Amino acid sequence: MFRIFVSSGSETRSNDHQTTTFPGGSSNGEAPVHHVHVAILGTGFSGLGMAIRLKQQGQEDFVVIERAADIGGTWRDNTYPGCACDIPSHLYSFSFALNPYWSRRYSPQAEIWDYLRQCAKRYGILPHIQWNSELQDASWKEDEQCWHITTSQGQLLANILILGNGALSEPSLPPIPGIERFEGVLFHSAQWKHDYDLTGKRVAVIGTGASAIQFVPHIQPQVAHLSLFLRTPPWIIPRLDHPIPDWQRTLYRMLPIAQRFVRSKIYWERELLALGFVYRTEMMQNGMQIARRHLEKQIPDPELRAKLTPKYTMGCKRVLLSDDFYPAITQPNVEVISERIREVRAHSIVTEDGREQEIDTIICATGFHVTDAPLHQHVYGRGGQSLADRWHTGQSAYLGTTISGFPNLFLLIGPNTGLGHNSMVYMIEAQLSYILDCMRTMDSRKLGTVEVRPEIQEVFDNEIQRRMQGTVWNSGCASWYLDAHGHNTTLWPGFTFEFRRRTRHFDAKHYEIITRQVSATARNAR
Ligand SMILES: Cc1cc2nc3c(=O)[nH]c(=O)nc-3n(C[C@H](O)[C@H](O)[C@H](O)COP(=O)(O)OP(=O)(O)OC[C@H]3O[C@@H](n4cnc5c(N)ncnc54)[C@H](O)[C@@H]3O)c2cc1C
Repeated sequence: MFRIFVSSGSETRSNDHQTTTFPGGSSNGEAPVHHVHVAILGTGFSGLGMAIRLKQQGQEDFVVIERAADIGGTWRDNTYPGCACDIPSHLYSFSFALNPYWSRRYSPQAEIWDYLRQCAKRYGILPHIQWNSELQDASWKEDEQCWHITTSQGQLLANILILGNGALSEPSLPPIPGIERFEGVLFHSAQWKHDYDLTGKRVAVIGTGASAIQFVPHIQPQVAHLSLFLRTPPWIIPRLDHPIPDWQRTLYRMLPIAQRFVRSKIYWERELLALGFVYRTEMMQNGMQIARRHLEKQIPDPELRAKLTPKYTMGCKRVLLSDDFYPAITQPNVEVISERIREVRAHSIVTEDGREQEIDTIICATGFHVTDAPLHQHVYGRGGQSLADRWHTGQSAYLGTTISGFPNLFLLIGPNTGLGHNSMVYMIEAQLSYILDCMRTMDSRKLGTVEVRPEIQEVFDNEIQRRMQGTVWNSGCASWYLDAHGHNTTLWPGFTFEFRRRTRHFDAKHYEIITRQVSATARNAR
């Protein structure tokens, strides 16, 4: 049963994870270096889910590295007004930890964050977490068959490294000339400044993606003037959010199978959308009609409506859900500007048409470093090659999880595991099963390393890019789904149940495997 709780500092900062000491670390009198079986990065749905599943298997020898002082990832960091999920909560949650208490169809951020904190507490993960610990560098050591990890808290050795650092965790600021010289207040939507009062301010919002359409209706009544800089209008359909009545919550608490039924229903409704995204893009016409009607109903002014009408097939960029965004931007204190920004000056923004607008505050709703995360430069595989180098022509991983040249490294929400239509938690859980099955195989066959065969990864990469061809995401719009080379290396081009089927079992035939070395065997004998 879930109850709201606020963890105390001592609870969340505890650091007494079960590790043993690596003898080599203390030879010169320095503090001993911990050697754990598994190091997990991050405490969002990915890292936390991995930790829980490991613990459920009886594995205690793992540490979770987290740069922040609390768990939650996306749901800890994105605290902008109106932040909520856009996949119904009954589905956007762990299958092994249903929460009958969700207050709404699309729960607000605080509730999802609480849910994750409660999961961490309930499953005993808090003692395994190394808080305020930024992973700075991880290098595979061939002779020792383990990862050498440097964090802001010190050194660590791990047989297996699992990266759950999040695809949307590194805010990206727009490369607009002069932006660094702005003397007003500037922040990213994922780093909301709650101590800064927007009342009466002249605010510029750059970007109209999933975050902007959630916070704009909340700040619009407060600000003196809101300049909304919009480059490519999103397709927006009605949100149809609603509170979950008490009787339903009681029912889910008393009869969990009823909630499972609702969860499956939502899953299959969402999954049907993959048909339009991936296989029959003409099916998106229905959705486009719904969105056009929504726009016509909420935006009476034909000139503004024209600015807000997308000129690409629905689904090419993320489809957004909102009932209050359009009404907010028709208010007299809002101006929608589709002219490109030429430069930012100390107290103003200048657009390509030469117009200069006085601005007190810039809020960047400009997304994240999705395919170029800084961490990629600091993870070194066999022969000292970094992930960034390995991926210089585009990121890829076998089943979004393993990479040739990077033994015993697993990615959660790695390349081509993202979704435009369904719950990311479903994909994460599929990956968790795959990694656990791999670890079981390693244990039973006494393997020291596993590394996907290059030819297997290549065949997989080719398959993904071939399947990407006919999808709506490759239909000609610019979106964060595409990398600098125009390749979609972020989304899964198919049904999610196919991904789950393919990750159900670890197939050792696809991997180079090396049995444990003697020194590693001592560590692994558990
Ligand atoms: C505003 C917003 C709304 C979203 N809504 C939905 C939705 O409705 N449905 C959906 O399916 N998906 C949604 N997503 C996507 C969402 O990111 C994923 O569903 C999921 O939460 C990702 O979990 P994660 O654990 O992989 O990553 P994150 O939640 O990003 O967690 C990553 C963790 O790793 C830590 N970390 C990163 N780098 C380091 C480092 N170097 N050292 C130490 N720690 C590090 C971070 O501090 C963080 O705690 C949304 C994303 C955003 C931004």
